[in-house]
Amino acid sequence: MTETLSALPEPVRDVYATVRRRNPHEPEFLQAVHEVLESIVPVLEQHPRFVDGGILERLVEPERQIMFRVPWVDDDGRLQVNRGFRVQFSSVLGPYKGGLRFHPSVDLSIVKFLGFEQIFKNALTGQGIGGAKGGSDFDPHGRSDAEVMRFCQSFMNELYRHLGEHTDVPAGDIGVGSREIGYLFGQYRKITNRHESGMFTGKGVQWGGAEVRTEATGYGAVFFAEEMLAVRGSSLAGLRVGVSGSGNVATYAITKAWQLGATPVTASDSSGYVVDDDGIDVELLRQVKEVERRRISEYAERRPSARFVADARPWEVAIDIAVPSATQNELDLDDARALIAGGVRAVSEGANMPCTPGAVSAFQQADVLFGPGKAANAGGVATSALEMSQNAARQRWTFDDSEAKLRQIMRDVHDAAYAAAERYGHPGDYVVGANSAGFERVAHAMLA
Ligand code: GLU
Repeated sequence: MTETLSALPEPVRDVYATVRRRNPHEPEFLQAVHEVLESIVPVLEQHPRFVDGGILERLVEPERQIMFRVPWVDDDGRLQVNRGFRVQFSSVLGPYKGGLRFHPSVDLSIVKFLGFEQIFKNALTGQGIGGAKGGSDFDPHGRSDAEVMRFCQSFMNELYRHLGEHTDVPAGDIGVGSREIGYLFGQYRKITNRHESGMFTGKGVQWGGAEVRTEATGYGAVFFAEEMLAVRGSSLAGLRVGVSGSGNVATYAITKAWQLGATPVTASDSSGYVVDDDGIDVELLRQVKEVERRRISEYAERRPSARFVADARPWEVAIDIAVPSATQNELDLDDARALIAGGVRAVSEGANMPCTPGAVSAFQQADVLFGPGKAANAGGVATSALEMSQNAARQRWTFDDSEAKLRQIMRDVHDAAYAAAERYGHPGDYVVGANSAGFERVAHAMLA
């Protein structure tokens, strides 16, 4: 990210200066902190107790940061060493909660930015969960199942001591799906001799997982777009939706876009994107990416209505709604300008912080509805909390019932963000709204 961040106003300037001094080499973490501090200034003006109570100073420093060595043996018998992380950011509202990401880009900055975001996102769901994130620079791509298993077991050999259903409850994120969760959960059970279903979410539905958890983040991001459009008296029906990514979030955002009468036309991976004028065929996408674990160009090979564009991002395609669902900072100011020129009406962030600060302000200045990830992708972690409830009560809810709950949660998240934006004098600004509503809940709890 090359954009420079703006100077911050008085009540938050010193706090940010301290964060920068303490974490000089963590650009993503600084970016996430900067955005929250900038947007909650009206909250601080109305609640001086939050300033006097030292809420911000405490909030920007994780409660605990765990970094550890993960040695494992590859299929050639060679020893490999990766680095593992878990940043337990805030437990004021409940047990630490947040996913694990396995990707070569994972470092302390990435894990801290994600953990920081998770505090406010989780607060916004109203479900009584704290904020955390973890992961490793391990790359599951091209690794055999046996290698992934050995890595996961070694990862858990260290991490288990920090987890528990009342302590810290991980889930998946990029590179961590049901396969990885199975290996991690299995190793936890073996080491601790406890079958604690609620110590992990995103489990397979056959062994304690919740219906709709897999779909929840993508579905939720599209529900959030629908909520934003409804405020302006419109809906998704008949619109062209551009999605980036081709993992879990993207796949189910595409599915839900179809179900709500829109046409999803793009998907991508790190090699490029596909645009399909007949609309993305979800089954083919899943076959290529999830089953065969191949590059996205393969989708265009098998689908006459689609073409593959190498080394580019899908934001050059004219669309009505954008759902960036790949990774952080994947949509910058130039992309935002292209989308605005193409007539985009709403952006709903399926990934965490996919839009750069410059892109966000360009959308807002152009009056494009902008749903930040903390609100728009909160359906994933909210459904994780539903999984914890079901595990605690030894219950299983149906798919339809769970989806109805997710739908209502997304409505509530939208309304909480919308109302907070109005209350703090920034009507229609969901960044101010989501950050303020989440922050208020956390700050009141800290003071209490
Ligand atoms: N990794 C997801 C997120 O970014 C889900 C976390 C969870 O379910 O705990 O919110």
